[in-house]
Amino acid sequence: MSSTLATATPAWAIPDYLEVHDGHLNINGADALELVRKYDSPLFVFSEPRIRSNIKRLKSAAASVEHSIRFFYASKANSNMAVLRTVLESGIDVEVNSGGELFKALRIGFRPDQIIFNGTSKSAGELDDAVSAGIYAINVDSIYEIGLVEEAVKRVAASTGQVAKPARIALRLVPEIGTRSHLGLQTALLTSKFGISSSEVLEAFRRSLQHPELIHVCGIHIHVGSQTPDVEPFAEAFRSMWEHLMAIHRETGHTLEHINLGGGIPVNYLRDRSQADQLPKHERDMLGADLEPAVVLAEALRVARESARAAEAEHLLDKTAILLEPGRSVIADAGQVLTTVLNMKQRPETGDVWLLTDAGYNIMLSMNNYKWYYHTISATRAGEPHESSYKVAGPLCDSGDVYFDIERCGRLPDYRKLPANVQPGEVLALLNCGAYSLAQMFHYNGRPLPAAVMIREDGKADLIRKRDTYEDLLRDDLW
Ligand SMILES: *Cc1c(COP(=O)(O)O)cnc(C)c1O
Repeated sequence: MSSTLATATPAWAIPDYLEVHDGHLNINGADALELVRKYDSPLFVFSEPRIRSNIKRLKSAAASVEHSIRFFYASKANSNMAVLRTVLESGIDVEVNSGGELFKALRIGFRPDQIIFNGTSKSAGELDDAVSAGIYAINVDSIYEIGLVEEAVKRVAASTGQVAKPARIALRLVPEIGTRSHLGLQTALLTSKFGISSSEVLEAFRRSLQHPELIHVCGIHIHVGSQTPDVEPFAEAFRSMWEHLMAIHRETGHTLEHINLGGGIPVNYLRDRSQADQLPKHERDMLGADLEPAVVLAEALRVARESARAAEAEHLLDKTAILLEPGRSVIADAGQVLTTVLNMKQRPETGDVWLLTDAGYNIMLSMNNYKWYYHTISATRAGEPHESSYKVAGPLCDSGDVYFDIERCGRLPDYRKLPANVQPGEVLALLNCGAYSLAQMFHYNGRPLPAAVMIREDGKADLIRKRDTYEDLLRDDLW
């Protein structure tokens, strides 16, 4: 069947990016089946043009508000070096959550003043690395940690024999803001492990101003949580940080340079809503969120301006840079997993047709631990109607390695809709898998980790992660 005769453009399609050509899924001009033939299965496929256009969307959001805005890509979403390079070349900055991510960010070429370091439990070694690099901000997660940064500054000065150069820190707060995201992704509740509570903020600032020769407090930070579907939590977090900023200015005379609104800008995982009605409403609202970063920025600034006007502090607001730490919104819909059906069975009792693939939760952890919905299509027959129901499962020796919700909490559809008569050898695609997948994969069941390719502007595929060999499974074992 030629593509012109195929059914109407599928809802998941994105012009010039995810399309149906010759009946197959085509990613930026690259044929999905050819990619699997060349690079084997399962396979991560990333799109450089899509990463760039996601970043462009953020930048135009920044341009739409007249204010100084900086974006720090949350590298924990995907810190593959080729992804980091694309982000670097797109002209935004980076946020890291460990010494390893700091190492990768520096290695790919981010300047230290482009790097923010978050984390609840940074080791002395990690703090020493961040301090000696002289990064833009170390976000401290507790009052106690302020002292740890001071110690690191002293250690670094002693080891270089130079006068200490103050480390830049920001305070990470935890306001009581619930979001409609998954509970496991909510980071801004007092029951969460993250941040300093509102009642301790002033004390924390006083503490961090005690040794200006060791640390310089430059900002304040809240991450409301990943995949936050509504604008209100962002606005509320921003207002709260802004009011702290004013109070600190009033009480200490110290002016903070930035307010960091964290990440959490959602991705629409339900562009194709053909299975959306099988999800509970709150899941549907969360996964199908359609919140523009421009709206987040405009609303945050609106509430802050309101409060600034009342306090006659607009000049302060004008001088305050706004930072965002987008992860998911940069990389999620820029990556897909291609997986091959290896086996099938039909249960006589239920009539269910099972498709057993080569992609398990060891490469898409969120599908298991958050029951995250990745819309699944046939890459082999992308243009055909997807109206037949299948039980779909991965290869791991674990009954939880299934593409539905085994606890029957309804957080994933019981069946996946694919073309009629899917047979082993057919290639499926899980869409929007670019965030928190490659970065979280592991060798469970002795499974070599898959390769990843990046499709460039001209449709050419570059290998950006080589497929593991069996030898790689032995690499770290000693016997
Ligand atoms: C995870 C995280 C982010 C990124 O969140 P996304 O939902 O991927 O945008 C940003 N900042 C901090 C502190 C985080 O922990």
